[in-house]
Amino acid sequence: MIKVENLYVKYGGITAVRDVSFEVEEGKIIALIGNNGAGKTSTLKTISGLVKPDKGRIYFEGNDITGMKPHEIVKKGIVHIPEGRHIFPNLTVKENLIMSSSSRNVTKSRFHEEMNKALQSFKVLKERENQLAGTLSGGEQQMLAIVRGMLQAPKLLMLDEPSMGLAPLVVEEVFRIIKDINNNGTTILVVEQNAQVALSAADYGYVMEVGEIILHDDAKLLLTNPQVKKIYLGENDD
Ligand code: ATP
Repeated sequence: MIKVENLYVKYGGITAVRDVSFEVEEGKIIALIGNNGAGKTSTLKTISGLVKPDKGRIYFEGNDITGMKPHEIVKKGIVHIPEGRHIFPNLTVKENLIMSSSSRNVTKSRFHEEMNKALQSFKVLKERENQLAGTLSGGEQQMLAIVRGMLQAPKLLMLDEPSMGLAPLVVEEVFRIIKDINNNGTTILVVEQNAQVALSAADYGYVMEVGEIILHDDAKLLLTNPQVKKIYLGENDD
C-alpha cells in the first residue's frame, strides 16, 4: 500500500531521516519503533506531506505521492493522527468530530450519520459528546483523535505515539481499538517508543535508530530478538 524508498529528511544541517526504506502491506499493522529523536515522527510527517523530503520517493497504491500537499494526501486516503493528538480543547467532542468533515466529499446528513454511528461504538465519547475536549482524560482524548481520524475514511491510518502519557491499562484499551479498526479493513502504520505494546499488536516491525532503520522483521520475532529485548524492552537474556 505504501512504499517508502531511500527517504532522507534534513532540518538545516541535521539529517533526521537517512536512507529509510520500508513497506506497508494492505490490511496489516506495521509498527515503527525507536527511541526519542530516532526520526519516526519526521518519517510520518513526510508521508503525510507536512515535511518535504530531501531525497527519496513515497508511493501510495502504486502512485508517487512525494511532495504532495497534506490535504491532497488526506483525500487519497492517508490520515495522520499526530503525537499529542491535536484536538481542539475549547470545542466539544462533537464539534471536534465535525471539524473532520471538511476533507470529506459527503453530504452533511451522511457525515452526521457516520459520526453518530462512530459515537455509538465509543460509549465513553457518546456520553461526553457535549463536553469540552480539553476536559477529557488523556485516554478519552486519544479515542477522540482516533474517531476523528476514522471519520476521514482512511485506507491507511498513521498514529504517532498513541500510548504517550497514558496509564498501562488505557494503553491496552487504545491498542485494542487500533486492532479492531484494522480488523475492519483499515491498514495501520503506528509509531511508538513503547515497543512492547506496538509489536504485540503489529504484524511486522521496523526499528529506527538515529535516523536509520537498523532492523526489521515479523513483529513477534522482533519481540524475542535479543537486541530489541535489551534496548527497547529493558530485558536481558542473561
Ligand atoms: P520523538 O518520539 O521524540 O518524536 P522521533 O523518533 O519521532 O522522536 P523526530 O521527531 O522525527 O524523532 O526527530 C528526529 C530528529 O530531527 C531529532 O534530532 C529532532 O531534534 C530533529 N527535528 C525534528 N523536527 C525538527 C524541526 N522542525 N527542526 C529542526 N530539527 C527537527
